[in-house]
Amino acid sequence: MSPYLVLARKYRPKTFDEVIGQDIVTEVLRGALTGGHLGHAYLFSGPRGTGKTTLARIFARCLNCERGPTPDPCGTCERCQAFQAGTELDLVEIDAASHTGVDNIRELRDEVAYAPMRARYKVYIVDEVHMLSKQAFNALLKTLEEPPAHVVFLFATTDPHKVLDTVLSRCQILRLVPLAEERIAARLEHVFQAEGVRAEAGVTEELARRARGGMRDALSQADKLLAFVGNEPTLEDLQRLGGEAGHEELEALLALVEAGDRAGLLTRLQAFEGDEESVLEGLLDHVRAAALLAWCGEATPLLTLGARARPSAAGASEPSASSCG
Ligand SMILES: [Zn+2]
Repeated sequence: MSPYLVLARKYRPKTFDEVIGQDIVTEVLRGALTGGHLGHAYLFSGPRGTGKTTLARIFARCLNCERGPTPDPCGTCERCQAFQAGTELDLVEIDAASHTGVDNIRELRDEVAYAPMRARYKVYIVDEVHMLSKQAFNALLKTLEEPPAHVVFLFATTDPHKVLDTVLSRCQILRLVPLAEERIAARLEHVFQAEGVRAEAGVTEELARRARGGMRDALSQADKLLAFVGNEPTLEDLQRLGGEAGHEELEALLALVEAGDRAGLLTRLQAFEGDEESVLEGLLDHVRAAALLAWCGEATPLLTLGARARPSAAGASEPSASSCG
């Protein structure tokens, strides 16, 4: 039996076409590849799990496919296969979170001078680049000012404001956006179908809601759920797994807040199983959904929760505006 591959890895996009919800970024990269306007440094910025390193890896392969550079790598040439298998010597991936020091960057600076061994471009993917120390950034800057023609840097960060301006100004910045819940839910449906999973209605929507815009989080939550209950998960299973306060519990809490029943509220909070953070997040989601329902109506595209997760109108305060225009 082959070892179990986690869903986030198994269903990781390998081409631009498979990437969901980042249309602007993929268009820009496609354009650079077909138009031949390739930069030496790109910074992928965006929330966790939205596809920064996935896009960087796809771009690296596009740059080096033997039939390229092309936005649609062949997938069969030696370079494509080496990039896909993670055995390409000309692709260097660095996790800046564990290589923050100036020595690591100096080492890198010395290395970039050498031509690639087999590939067209030597590609450096530096994840969590904002974690580099100031000295490390300054050392990097020297390389970015005069990059050798055969080198491309692909930086990824969740915190672009922590990256030195002088570094930012030498990068093409690509902003990834959080994915809409319905796109995450649709992708989960696809994955479940491919895996032979028969989930109760609403499970994919609830997983999507909890993922807060990150596809990777949605898939790892799904992994956890399937490991927990097998191939026919229900909403109740998800509730038990999550440690998140359930729909009814949140409604009860908000009713106590509305009634001004402080003693009742404190007693009720005491009985909660989830940690404080998940209770707070649950409450925020709940109030947000109630506000959207009250002000924007059932049909709002901003709200894609499954019907069961929707708060009752009673939980929402009276709207003071009539639309969300
Ligand atoms: Zn190829």
